[in-house]
Amino acid sequence: MNPYKRVYAAIDLDAAVFNMNAMRNNIPAGIKMAGVVKTDGYGHGAVPIAKAIDSFVSFFCVASAEEGVNLRMHHITKPILILGPVPGDDYGDVVSFDLRPSIFTLEQAQALSDTAAVQRKNAYVHLAVDTGMSRIGMKPDEESAELALKIAHLPFLEMEGVFTHMYRADEKDLTCAREQVALFKKFLGMLKGKGVEPKIRHITNSAGIMENLGTDLDMVRAGITLYGLYPSEETDRSKLKIKPVMGIKSEITYVKTIEAGTSVSYGGIFTAEKPTRVATIPVGYGDGYPRTLSGKGYVLIDGKRAPILGRICMDQFMVDVTDIPAAKIGQEVTLVGQDGADCIYVEDLSRLSGRFPYEFTCDIGKRVPRVYYRNGKITGRKDYFMDIYQDFVG
Ligand SMILES: *Cc1c(COP(=O)(O)O)cnc(C)c1O
Repeated sequence: MNPYKRVYAAIDLDAAVFNMNAMRNNIPAGIKMAGVVKTDGYGHGAVPIAKAIDSFVSFFCVASAEEGVNLRMHHITKPILILGPVPGDDYGDVVSFDLRPSIFTLEQAQALSDTAAVQRKNAYVHLAVDTGMSRIGMKPDEESAELALKIAHLPFLEMEGVFTHMYRADEKDLTCAREQVALFKKFLGMLKGKGVEPKIRHITNSAGIMENLGTDLDMVRAGITLYGLYPSEETDRSKLKIKPVMGIKSEITYVKTIEAGTSVSYGGIFTAEKPTRVATIPVGYGDGYPRTLSGKGYVLIDGKRAPILGRICMDQFMVDVTDIPAAKIGQEVTLVGQDGADCIYVEDLSRLSGRFPYEFTCDIGKRVPRVYYRNGKITGRKDYFMDIYQDFVG
């Protein structure tokens, strides 16, 4: 059995490095970068991405303690910030694996300090501030500054950083993002007034990196642009040139010609009006390929576009290859990425399927092996279905 024949995601680590360079060149030289590798690196594989971009970053950001521990188990040694709140049960692991949780209540801070005391080592925390998103964080007011002072004085606890999150920096109108930066800075002033001065202050996400918002602080958190996708349709792409990191390849498993009047796939929503050559592709929504591409999406075969016919099934779908003579069993199919002169971008499929580009790569399923490329050569693989790394060397 060759697990890489049915379908695989080709992950271009050189593109990830290219994107880090592009961002580095877009922001002030002195500012630190964090690589956001939550949700297994937006579906690309957190460990190989983290290793590829390690030299660019001072921090990695994850969503949960488990994701942080996973990076540690794969010998990632840089500081790791957990962007979401961490349940108290995980504090033991947080301290022993040197993870930095987001903290914004005295109860969290006290419990973490107690855990750190037991382990006789310092826990490092970043204070989360809510400047408008209403997700996590303390309100940016005097009362919170007072609370921050109490937290900062807890034993075995070091307030290394303070951060907030932009929630509208990917829009054409940046008024809201600018207001968030101003509000955050105002709160930093209140903290300073209490003598609380965490040394890593950060607000900027990918959209902020593109627009240089909040980049006069100490660190930026690079997420979606690291993977070569733009934060939204509204962002000004001329501000940052990036390359897609993920491609998806499959191959044709069957080709036949159907007569006029024959329908294709569940529900018979497509019926051929003329004799049509149909190729079957062994990929479906069970792989995270959106069912909403039914009758709307297309793939590339021999550099030409083959439109999807009818509904996408769990494990297969059909395309029209009437005008693609090269289409035969075993022929390579590009679901995402370059083939000849044409290229399918994740953004194109997101638009067609009514989904969000971030969601598209995150949702590419465990059944799709990731194959890692460096200088055009395979440097490692990740077989999700066996849940092991094979000959990963990068
Ligand atoms: C996901 C996330 C980021 C990265 O956002 P992008 O838009 O992908 O750059 C940064 N900060 C926080 C708190 C996040 O949750």
